[in-house]
Amino acid sequence: MRIDFHTHSSVSDGTDPPAAVMRQARAAGLDVVALTDHDTVDGHPEAKRELPPGMTFVPGMELSCRLDGHSVHMLAYLFDPAHAELADQSERIRTDRVRRAVAMVSRLADLGTGVTWEQVTEMADGGVVGRPHIARALAARGVIDKPSLAFTKEWIGMGGRAYVGRYALEPAHAIALIRDAGGVAVLAHPRAGRDSWMIPDEVIARLAASGLAGVEVWHPDHDSSERTRLLHLADELGLVPSGGSDDHGTLTGHRLGCEVITPESYERLIERSSGAVPVRI
Ligand code: AMP
Ligand code: FE
Ligand code: FE
Ligand code: ZN
Repeated sequence: MRIDFHTHSSVSDGTDPPAAVMRQARAAGLDVVALTDHDTVDGHPEAKRELPPGMTFVPGMELSCRLDGHSVHMLAYLFDPAHAELADQSERIRTDRVRRAVAMVSRLADLGTGVTWEQVTEMADGGVVGRPHIARALAARGVIDKPSLAFTKEWIGMGGRAYVGRYALEPAHAIALIRDAGGVAVLAHPRAGRDSWMIPDEVIARLAASGLAGVEVWHPDHDSSERTRLLHLADELGLVPSGGSDDHGTLTGHRLGCEVITPESYERLIERSSGAVPVRI
């Protein structure tokens, strides 16, 4: 059984609609796929409706968190999407993403890039707006050669000239909400580096004590030594090792199924959830 537990669609900052993600996942030989768009569950109905035969869909979301000024991503699976406070908090994050993107575009305009809000909303196409949409707008203007080059101090990388922060949840608060909604919480790519923070073992241990169910081990941005360390840590803390491709379509290069989790991890995460069930047609 091939299981990819981390993917994005154009409902957030991926480039392909949920139905296309499901189709491509099946074509990539996957049996189970979780859709984990940033701060939204809006892609779930389409993914379920357009599920290819033989494919199992797991509803998920990647919640934006912040700890000590660092960005932290918390994956949530199999929660009740109607849970009022979880829905409220994700809406609050989405609303603040718009304010923050407008502010970043204004700074980029002041820097003479020529990027406009209209262009960014066109890139986002109704989805949850994020820095990748602004990065694509910068690339389309020829300011940078490719979107990934926007994530630097020069542009919209953390602390960059045009970077603006946004509302996010304390990870422990996110975990509590996810659990209250019957879901399971999995810490996303703790050792990805890049624009984010290398989350120390002690912090992961504290989150485990707060009810974290799992931690991503198998992620494209984790090197093999980090995988080994995280696998040991997960074992020590009783966390379920998880992961996935974190595919964002053309933004990351299509890579569904490049990372998979074990059937054992899948079973353990399902066992701990009660807010929703995997969908299979
Ligand atoms: P935001 O949530 O709006 O702050 O944007 C964060 C998103 O930007 C992440 O979910 C990734 O999809 C993307 N991202 C972050 N760092 C990089 C990078 N160095 N190169 C390309 N994409 C990145
Ligand atoms: Fe993303
Ligand atoms: Fe992430
Ligand atoms: Zn992700």
